[in-house]
Amino acid sequence: MLSEKRYNDFMNLRALVRKNIFNLEPYSCARDEFQGEASVYLDANESPYNSPYNRYPDPLQRSLKEKIAKIKGVRAEQILIGNGSDESIDLTFRVFCEPSVDNVVAMEPTYGMYKVCADINNVEYRKVALEDGFKLRSTKVLDAVDEYTKVIFLCSPNNPTGNLMDKAEILKILTDFGGIIAIDEAYIDFAGCSGWLPKLDKYPNLVIYQTFSKAWGLSSMRCGLAFAREEIIVLFNKVKYPYNISSLTQNAVSEQLSKGDEQKNCWVEQILAERRPLIDMLRQMKIVKEIYHSDANFILIKVVDANKIYEYLTQKGIIVRNRSRVSLCDDCLRITVGTPDENHALVEALKTYL
Ligand SMILES: *Cc1c(COP(=O)(O)O)cnc(C)c1O
Repeated sequence: MLSEKRYNDFMNLRALVRKNIFNLEPYSCARDEFQGEASVYLDANESPYNSPYNRYPDPLQRSLKEKIAKIKGVRAEQILIGNGSDESIDLTFRVFCEPSVDNVVAMEPTYGMYKVCADINNVEYRKVALEDGFKLRSTKVLDAVDEYTKVIFLCSPNNPTGNLMDKAEILKILTDFGGIIAIDEAYIDFAGCSGWLPKLDKYPNLVIYQTFSKAWGLSSMRCGLAFAREEIIVLFNKVKYPYNISSLTQNAVSEQLSKGDEQKNCWVEQILAERRPLIDMLRQMKIVKEIYHSDANFILIKVVDANKIYEYLTQKGIIVRNRSRVSLCDDCLRITVGTPDENHALVEALKTYL
């Protein structure tokens, strides 16, 4: 368990946050200073012409957050909206990790952006290899931690492996680690469970990333989410660019959410229904050596020669993701589940591979 001192430090956040960020006086934009309705806006040096594009968007995306809060069962104050989840990941570094002093720990293999953001921010990145079956072992993760470890990145379901991480293992990390635990749930809609969002109020050190890019079919909107306790969201808000989400994105995502989540759920069901026969077809192929368990909208497979098969498929106009250079993923391809026609095209192409 956490030492009492570490826990108290944690509760007031001060010990975890970079000093300059803790003390930061954030930029105050015109739309921060005045909120509400007025008839004449002469405060932001906007053009009076070309409505509605002439006006700056709401810097805190209040109306969109209300809708997200309702669908996700959290309070609007627990939400940060970013230009994709990648913005939330980068903000986590910029708020908590002092360059060339602090470090972060992440599982390996996992989503590549944690390492890229670590490198950009000049923060040491410690990898902990997943076990057989790409399972997470909490003791190994906690062994990699030292007093300068500020964040542990977990990804569940994990990219590129596709599997959910064991709840008990994550729970042990949540209760034993005195820093931030960031759980990336980009694929949680496909996993058939609620993920960690219902536990947000219970764990003050929890940050959860989700996104509209996958199950919601809104990759082009660049709209990612971070959920955390309000004190952490306040820090993220201080550091993010003031108008990070355009009004086009705010309005379009808002409009999608007004219709509820039935359409999204329906798409998820279709993709999961398609995943089963696709796995069955792949299993029958001699070139496929292993199919890893998937809780996501993609499948990781091990094949006889990933580079060759990747090239072959590319020549046929079918693009999959070659993950064979990723550690523990020798000869692996990552295949997104598409429409029935797209999956059929893939299977037919693989059948004629010699
Ligand atoms: C796709 C993906 C994201 C989403 O990133 P966006 O910037 O929101 O599009 C985040 N995390 C993981 C693990 C992903 O695979």
